[in-house]
Amino acid sequence: MSTLNLRAKALSDVMGRLPKEVHPPSSRISDYFGVNVFNDGAMRMFLTVDAYRALRAAIDSGESIDRRLADQVASGMKEWAASKGATHYTHWFQPLNGSSAEKHDAFFEPLGEGHSIERFDGGMLVQQEPDASSFPSGGIRNTFEARGYSAWDPGSPAFLIHGTLVIPTIFISYTGEALDFKTPLLRSIRALDEAATAVCQYFDRNVRKVTPTLGWEQEYFLIDESFYYARPDIMAAGRALFGHGPARGQQLEDHYFGSIPDRTQAFMRDFETEAIRLGIPLKTRHNEVAPNQFECAPMFEEMNLAVDHNMLLMDVMEKTARKHDMRVLFHEKPYVGVNGSGKHNNWSLATDTGVNLLRPARTPKENIQFLAFFVNTIAAVHAHADVLRASIASANNDHRLGANEAPPAIMSVFIGDYLTRLLDDLERNIKARMSPASKTELKLDIGRIPRVMLDNTDRNRTSPFAFTGNKFEFRAVGSSANCGGPMTVLNTIVAAQLKEFKQEVDALLSQGVKKDEALLRTIRALIVRSKPVRFEGNAYGEEWKQEAERRKLANIPDTPKALDAWSDKATIRLFSEMGVLSPKELEARHEIELHNYTLKIQIESRVCADMATNHVLPAAVHYQNRLIDNVKGLQDVLGREEAAKATATQVDLIKRISQHIEEVRSLSIAMIQARKAANTITDGRERAIAYCDKVKPFLERIRYHANKLEVLVDDELWPLPKMRELLFTR
Ligand code: ADP
Ligand code: MG
Repeated sequence: MSTLNLRAKALSDVMGRLPKEVHPPSSRISDYFGVNVFNDGAMRMFLTVDAYRALRAAIDSGESIDRRLADQVASGMKEWAASKGATHYTHWFQPLNGSSAEKHDAFFEPLGEGHSIERFDGGMLVQQEPDASSFPSGGIRNTFEARGYSAWDPGSPAFLIHGTLVIPTIFISYTGEALDFKTPLLRSIRALDEAATAVCQYFDRNVRKVTPTLGWEQEYFLIDESFYYARPDIMAAGRALFGHGPARGQQLEDHYFGSIPDRTQAFMRDFETEAIRLGIPLKTRHNEVAPNQFECAPMFEEMNLAVDHNMLLMDVMEKTARKHDMRVLFHEKPYVGVNGSGKHNNWSLATDTGVNLLRPARTPKENIQFLAFFVNTIAAVHAHADVLRASIASANNDHRLGANEAPPAIMSVFIGDYLTRLLDDLERNIKARMSPASKTELKLDIGRIPRVMLDNTDRNRTSPFAFTGNKFEFRAVGSSANCGGPMTVLNTIVAAQLKEFKQEVDALLSQGVKKDEALLRTIRALIVRSKPVRFEGNAYGEEWKQEAERRKLANIPDTPKALDAWSDKATIRLFSEMGVLSPKELEARHEIELHNYTLKIQIESRVCADMATNHVLPAAVHYQNRLIDNVKGLQDVLGREEAAKATATQVDLIKRISQHIEEVRSLSIAMIQARKAANTITDGRERAIAYCDKVKPFLERIRYHANKLEVLVDDELWPLPKMRELLFTR
């Protein structure tokens, strides 16, 4: 065997690995939580009292910050950063290609004649012009203005990474169009605040602000670095395009909540330490269902911060993994046949008076408020299921949705037995005319909603959108996604629904209907209208697909068509009215996502063909030649007739290998043809559909024959780390 066999090298590397030692700065996490964040404590210390107060007020009200204050804040930030050894600063933003971007500049500025200063003023804090030509803009920049700029988001605190002061920013074109995830997210948070605060006024006039909260749960796979380098598909596409399923898969499910391997634990402790320093409140870590799959989750936070923290953490995890000779796979489906990775988005609404609006309370009045928000959320998912589906659509997530313990592409809501019964009762009992006694009865029932719902602890894990006692959990979000995308949509559709709710309640009030009755009647109408989206059964089952069809719920398994929702008239109106995305911005997003899809499949298809030619076929031919030599040798020794029996197995193998070689070769050629044909299509949507329908199926077919060859060819000659090695070696 050649000395260059990366698989053999990887196996020997992995066998020899030991856990890296990790030394957290203290055994008490609270000792170093947020030490690298320009947080409230740091602001108090490094800003004048006046500047601190003005900044706090501006952050809380969302009002803009003038240049003088910006100068003061910049100066305080610089002092703070310098006191911790920082030499550079950067604007940090989240462009639409799914990663985060930064460009570092030094504080240091030479003045000539040997003089220099360290400079960082309000202008540098507030606005930068990154060289953004390489970030996707969906034609916005080309058509209107060549450059984009990043602008400080004071709502998310600056932080320090490796001697650089990092400033969270939005990223917009010169004509003001959003080129990132954060801009529409902030707009949707504002829209939701307005709509939800208005509804809160029916119940509590003290509520001035409502903020969405987000607690994400991040799933991921780990792979040893040497395996990673030996798998061009995982390197380029993040997932294994080849590989026969291991004899032992996840059937035993002994990995789930089992003990975490030592090397992995060291990695976890290391990235958690860095995360804690950055103020990311990580709380839980555990094994997931598949081998070498894990999860971590923080305490939930105000949404803007939670989204930034997720992006930041993914980055920290990737960097830390390298130190431990590993790679993190955030891909939604790195391995066919085993569990995929999701990022559950736990979502709720918090008032500035400290109330979680999705938590059942103790009195009828508070619980009507709970019901209002609860039912409006369900109604929003029902009315806008298509946009919600589009918000989680990606080439990666297509492999996950509806396969191996992942929710299907049909949007439905699970609420548990108790609340199902309650909503059914409300539907029956709320009437236009009610006797005082039946009204009292009804309110008593509403007052008795338990704060902890037992049936929700045994959650229906098959639902894409589940109520889990005091929050909704959007489970269809993919592990590599920026939460900002789906959360922007969820905020927007709930805001629109709440606005409509308020108009309907107000209409009844103006007809002289009493407040409680107006609320309850409007809630009832929503319960009735949104009923088809509620599903308590097994969403993995085939029967649900048929039932969903009867209920007229959409089931769009592929991304290119799921994305059609972005250019739907109703969507365009919704996002304009809520002030979240202009028609032009929506169109740009649609275009970018179609393009991202096409690129993904294009890369997979190229890597697949290359690997078939450079890895799979040579190994198969090599082994086949050995067999041929063996047959010839036996014939020489035994004579043709005598050898016929002795060589029967080898000859059979030679034939089977030939067949699969021929299939891999001809399918690869046909795939390249399909790609060429797709590339000539100029319309972005049509091109993405061609990639989906005409190119993608070849990946599966080539995989099938390559996997057959993997089983036939001598293990020693196989160049690619096998699935059992990727999954079970640690
Ligand atoms: P589990 O039993 O799955 O641990 P938890 O209720 O502890 O359930 O929460 C799971 C996730 O939900 C955590 O990431 C947590 O931060 C988040 N979460 C809890 N409450 C809220 C809330 N009010 N808003 C948003 N996320 C929340
Ligand atoms: Mg969960």
